[in-house]
Amino acid sequence: MQLRRYDGHQFPAELTITTADTHTKVNKEYTLHIRDITRQRKLQNKLQHLAYRDPLTELYNRAYFMQDLASKLELNDVPIISVFFLDLDRFKKINDTLGHQAGDDLLKEVSARLRKVTRDEDVIARWGGDEFVVMLSGDLSETLLAKRANQILEVMREPVQLIGRELKIPTSIGIAYTATPIEANTLIQHADIAMYFAKEAGRDTFRIFEPEMALRAHRNFDHEQALRRALSNKSEMTMVYQPKVNQHGVIVGLEALVRWQRQDGSFFSPAEFIPIAEETNLIIPLDEHIFDLVCQQITAWRNRNMRIPPVAINISGKNLLSGTLVQYVKSTLAEYQLDGTSIEIEVTEGVLIDDIERCCQVLSELRELNIRIAIDDFGTGYSSLSYLKSLPVDILKIDKSFVDECAASQEDSKICSTVISLADGLKLDTVAEGVENEAQFEFLRRLGCHVYQGYYFYRPQSAAQIEALLGQPQNVINLVQQKAEKHA
Ligand code: C2E
Ligand code: MG
Ligand code: MG
Repeated sequence: MQLRRYDGHQFPAELTITTADTHTKVNKEYTLHIRDITRQRKLQNKLQHLAYRDPLTELYNRAYFMQDLASKLELNDVPIISVFFLDLDRFKKINDTLGHQAGDDLLKEVSARLRKVTRDEDVIARWGGDEFVVMLSGDLSETLLAKRANQILEVMREPVQLIGRELKIPTSIGIAYTATPIEANTLIQHADIAMYFAKEAGRDTFRIFEPEMALRAHRNFDHEQALRRALSNKSEMTMVYQPKVNQHGVIVGLEALVRWQRQDGSFFSPAEFIPIAEETNLIIPLDEHIFDLVCQQITAWRNRNMRIPPVAINISGKNLLSGTLVQYVKSTLAEYQLDGTSIEIEVTEGVLIDDIERCCQVLSELRELNIRIAIDDFGTGYSSLSYLKSLPVDILKIDKSFVDECAASQEDSKICSTVISLADGLKLDTVAEGVENEAQFEFLRRLGCHVYQGYYFYRPQSAAQIEALLGQPQNVINLVQQKAEKHA
């Protein structure tokens, strides 16, 4: 109860009433015991604060948010309840490179911005790590939700000052809403799924949940489970090898490409499952398994006295930054008694600009093992050409999309010629990816491109087909000559 002192000051009190048994039915004695519980109350509030607030940002925590969401959904007294799921896109990198203090400051700054842009009745919580959730309730249309999401994205776009640096923190938002009572967990999960779609759509944007998204996410989950199984029994991944040729059509390299045949017999293309592997961190064991398979194959070929040109292995950017790659490569090469010149490593351009300093470090260490490094899909990562000279790489692979139109479109032909002359200036080799016809080949050859890969020459081949191609050294075929002879 709330009591008042003489001086008018109110305080919380606890009242206990006990009856004393007087053995008579008429007279009863009562003892009233009143206790000032101001101190307990304060402690209780403090405990509640600790239990329901995130200590760093002072926002609500996940436990409170869930409880509040569940009770609001149960009461069902507002037309629509909506959850915004926010994820900061480069937080982990900032935390790793600028330190935890900077990371903490960034999270506080984000919280302050969220407070600024939300209303009193909205509930904001830190979901964990770099994830935040906001609950809105009321008469919300999709247009209104979009408007609110854009307001949040707008304040997030303002650069943040951290240890004297100006940083951008792209944010992705997933939104789910409901007009009927559903499980709080389901609503959050839908917002989370929508957030992944926002990320996929290029970040710094939002997506509103649609049931189709859940179906796709579900499929990905099935694939993830299957991928886990495949990696643990190590029998479903096989490698094919696509030859690369020089301007005379002589095979000068191979690129190892993974193929996944699932237990049910279906084939699943790397373009589909590599992104799932990356998202789930399975890419690290996958890349390692592939690396092992390729080294094993090279050794088997060598044992049959075949001369094998360098075999290029694709390594995901995630793996490049994992911190364990160099050690794995070193010990696997040693295990198979191979030296670095027997392989090449391909990394896509996009990852390099994401964290250029660390990439340079890892690539330099790989090069110290005499491994040549290729930038894959060059031209698609929007990198500035100027930093190329500082990157420890040896080869540029011109992306197929430029090769496709190089003989037909003026723009693409200019891109190809610029890349080739730039690479020449920097003493890098050029490989044209996805050469499919003679016109492309002729055009690139005139520009002085060094190496060609594509269906015009060879499709990816099984290990046995490669053996047939390279089995006898004198049999290295000169495709260009063959083709010329055929014409003649
Ligand atoms: P990528 O490294 O750029 O590989 C080239 C892709 O283009 C391969 O597709 C290859 O089969 C295809 N290709 C080659 N020549 C032609 C052509 O003339 N026309 C057309 N239309 N396509 C051509 P694939 O094997 O489906 O691989 C797709 C991507 O998946 C690869 O692109 C690579 O980024 C990734 N990937 C493949 N194998 C591995 C792997 O073992 N590890 C990792 N981390 N990624 C891999
Ligand atoms: Mg590649
Ligand atoms: Mg490529």
